[in-house]
Amino acid sequence: MSAKSKRPGTGTSQTLNECVQVVVRCRPMSNRERTEGSPEVVNVYPNRGVVELQNLVDANKEQRKVFTYDAAYDASASQTMLYHEVVFPLVSSVLEGFNGCIFAYGQTGTGKTFTMEGARGNEDLMGIIPRTFEQIWLHINRTENFQFLVDVSYLEIYMEELRDLLKPNSKHLEVRERGSGVYVPNLHAINCKSVDDMVHVMQIGNKNRTVGFTNMNEHSSRSHAIFMIKIEMCDTETNTIKVGKLNLIDLAGSERQSKTGASAERLKEASKINLALSSLGNVISALAENSPHVPYRDSKLTRLLQDSLGGNSKTIMIANIGPSAYNYNETLTTLRYASRAKSIQNQPIKNE
Ligand code: ADP
Ligand code: MG
Repeated sequence: MSAKSKRPGTGTSQTLNECVQVVVRCRPMSNRERTEGSPEVVNVYPNRGVVELQNLVDANKEQRKVFTYDAAYDASASQTMLYHEVVFPLVSSVLEGFNGCIFAYGQTGTGKTFTMEGARGNEDLMGIIPRTFEQIWLHINRTENFQFLVDVSYLEIYMEELRDLLKPNSKHLEVRERGSGVYVPNLHAINCKSVDDMVHVMQIGNKNRTVGFTNMNEHSSRSHAIFMIKIEMCDTETNTIKVGKLNLIDLAGSERQSKTGASAERLKEASKINLALSSLGNVISALAENSPHVPYRDSKLTRLLQDSLGGNSKTIMIANIGPSAYNYNETLTTLRYASRAKSIQNQPIKNE
């Protein structure tokens, strides 16, 4: 489907440029960073979507780099604010029959999981995924003359292999293409009838993510977790059906692996992660350039999400960064990656 073509059943059309949003979020200093007196090198100007990175390490290099995005959030930005400003409109589109993807990108420890799932113990700290459940069910419960079917799948991609987090023992999941879409035969889907059902499914998947791995944190930072919500909406007056799909993705950590001292297995893992993250970047930039060839097939992640990247689908990339000087190189890499995706909207990027 071309960028400007109409999607059946929705009556709206839009350009591709409106469909990708790149947002940067800088987390607060951690207690450790504070006690160690680590200098802060990131300045965020939320009103202008600008992030400035200072180089305190190498005096011979340019001292400040300035990047512009659709939006930029600093340490004071609440989960509620991020949701309402960035995510709410995309979920509203899904509830009109569009597809959508939200990616959390960044090095390990920068807040990807905090952004997607949130932290426990306080409702204010709830992340994007449980907030989408609330938005979806509020809409369903308020909408008359429609029947809704909500199915949820949860999987991860580790070493370019798909793993069903709702049925962790099922083997050899493959991505297949059928007509206009992609699908994964035998991927378990659970029908949900409430927010609580969806929370329960998320919890089962998160628990299964740890099964068979001695170091949960290491494993989760090296795999991509993909929470998929499919909403079928049947208009009972006209008997027409629309489908919206929402994919919520906590990507593997983007940090570079040091080659010295790393085991062969670690290097293999690192190269698969690089493959997936760079192919995701390539897909987004090919869409930006209206390239006739979009390299979806280069990784499992982009193949799996093919339906929901490009065309009339909406994508949000949340690039997470930390504020401290010792992360300078990784932060710069993340800001550049996000800028490349951002070029989809042809906004001027100073200094880069
Ligand atoms: P990642 O998933 O990228 O490895 P985490 O989400 O686990 O990173 O975040 C690392 C730590 O930083 C966690 O303790 C998390 O609670 C905290 N953190 C991250 N972002 C924020 C934020 N915006 N506000 C408060 N704490 C945060
Ligand atoms: Mg994480």
